[in-house]
Amino acid sequence: FDQRDGEIWFNGAYVPWSDAKVHVLTHGLHYGSSVFEGERAYGGEIFRLEDHTARLIKSGEILGFKIPYTAEELNQAQRDLLARSGLVDAYVRPVAWRGSEMMGVSAQNNTINVAIAIWEWPSYFDPAERLKGIRLDMAKYRRPDPQTAPSTAKAAGLYMICTLSKHAAEANGYADALMLDWRGYVAETTGANVFFVKDGVLHTPKADCFLAGITRDTVIKLAQARGIEVRERVIMPEEMSDMEECFLTGTAAEVTPVSEIGPYRFEVGEITRTLMADYLNEVQPKSSTMPMAAAG
Ligand code: PMP
Repeated sequence: FDQRDGEIWFNGAYVPWSDAKVHVLTHGLHYGSSVFEGERAYGGEIFRLEDHTARLIKSGEILGFKIPYTAEELNQAQRDLLARSGLVDAYVRPVAWRGSEMMGVSAQNNTINVAIAIWEWPSYFDPAERLKGIRLDMAKYRRPDPQTAPSTAKAAGLYMICTLSKHAAEANGYADALMLDWRGYVAETTGANVFFVKDGVLHTPKADCFLAGITRDTVIKLAQARGIEVRERVIMPEEMSDMEECFLTGTAAEVTPVSEIGPYRFEVGEITRTLMADYLNEVQPKSSTMPMAAAG
């Protein structure tokens, strides 16, 4: 992935893709002092860019560092890089991390570095499988207690258990894994939030120890706009046997139906289909100066 054409925004400069390197003694690499975002551009505009940038800055603060750019500078850098990339539908990845000046756990004076990369990333899950509903394994690892880790930051360190869980699920032939939280309640997958449908009502876990996704927020509002009741609440794993539909939400995953979680089965039903369509409609640029052809 590091050998490509294109540019990466690296601490304020545009650097050729393959030259955007960090030293092996980077604090972020050794100790996980790194935060990032994942965004999608549709039709040349980054969806909810300001909210993603605010979350990036907040994640840095949760890890005890201040990103040395303002929100507006970061927003503009992302818009400019997107324009320079020539892409209209793309994935945007800003990342901020502690640098390499000091090599101990303590790194109070290390510089905070920021980079942004943009590339094409059509579908997070296999498109055919996605329409039928993806199959999820149950993860072995659980989302940590907020007293064990800063569990609501989008911090690289929290993804160690996500990669382990996703790899284990893939080895078992599943697309992804559902993670419980430390109490044993349903939490989220390795890179997306989860919703269930029962009797026309949406149920989703309270986001008190995992990322309250921006897509989750959008989908809650879209559901409410259609008069669908949304309950954010504790969901016990056994309750999944009564749920009729299930889907995931995330910037990369968008709205992805789920057909199976461990022993539980779901249909790709009416509400899931409606919200998939509403989401795709919602992400299209509203200030449309773009020709329709570019918005596909
Ligand atoms: N949970 C995790 C662990 C994630 O990585 C993501 C993707 N950023 C989400 C939830 C969904 O967040 P969002 O909708 O803001 O992309």
